[in-house]
Amino acid sequence: MTTVPKTRVGVVGCAGRMGRMLIVSIAESPRAVLAGATERAGHPALGQDPGILAGCAETGSRIVEDPNILFDEADVVIDFTAPAATAGHAAMAAKTGTPLVIGTTGLEGTHEAAIDAAAQSVPILQAANMSLGVNILLGVTQQLATLLDEAYDIEIVEMHHRHKADAPSGTALALGRAAAAGRGLEMAEAAVFSREGPTGPRPEGAIGFATLRGGDVAGDHTVIFAGAGERIELTHRASSRDVFAKGAVHGALWLVGRPPGRYTMRDVLGLATA
Ligand code: NAD
Repeated sequence: MTTVPKTRVGVVGCAGRMGRMLIVSIAESPRAVLAGATERAGHPALGQDPGILAGCAETGSRIVEDPNILFDEADVVIDFTAPAATAGHAAMAAKTGTPLVIGTTGLEGTHEAAIDAAAQSVPILQAANMSLGVNILLGVTQQLATLLDEAYDIEIVEMHHRHKADAPSGTALALGRAAAAGRGLEMAEAAVFSREGPTGPRPEGAIGFATLRGGDVAGDHTVIFAGAGERIELTHRASSRDVFAKGAVHGALWLVGRPPGRYTMRDVLGLATA
């Protein structure tokens, strides 16, 4: 019986909440092995064994600051860091020809442009949420927004842990884009991100967002379609970050060998429609 070589997966930002979960998910995967791990300059985890840091078996490697060697040696790299770091990693992926999985949220135009440029030469998988449930919710939200006209007001409510750096969450924005697509709108025209003081009545067709922060919530999202006399509420609750890490590792294994371009988790899960 021939043994299939394991895919070497690199993790940048490995000491973060998601980074540690990724190390564990790679260790648990029968098809993946950790190629190496990085952290930002000055991080106290530099020099430690990433396996020990994440609470699983020793790997024999050390967490390093320079991602160049990691991108050279890995078959695919997973990045859940911060927007500016992710833009730099995308450029590095293009230089070394290494597929890249991006889970970082809060990306702005310049960061997305760096990813677009890299995706000309390497496959890049990017998703604000790597869970199966949320990716199904995206499709259902678009479908309901198509079925229910503007007599049904769309509101999106999300809650995350107290450390989250961006708001609304990347997943809430993705749900907003799905709802806008279902209505044939651009999200930028429809979105209302905050309300305070004498706001007046709700504009027809608006897609409203509300953000809650607290405790250790891994990620809750509800899409509300509120009509006169009834409403539909679709809720997804992640009870562990494990679901995002497992999704990212599954996505990384799927991405290796794909043609250059941008992919989403809906492509990985075979849910991509329009
Ligand atoms: P975190 O702050 O715990 O971890 C980020 C890590 O990246 C830190 O350890 C930090 O030191 C490191 N880092 C920053 N710059 C770096 C650089 N230049 N090189 C190497 N490492 C660097 O945050 P987190 O909760 O793990 O979340 C990280 C990102 O992932 C956020 O944008 C978050 O919104 C997103 N996220 C996405 C999903 C998803 O399913 N796509 C799920 C959870 C979190």
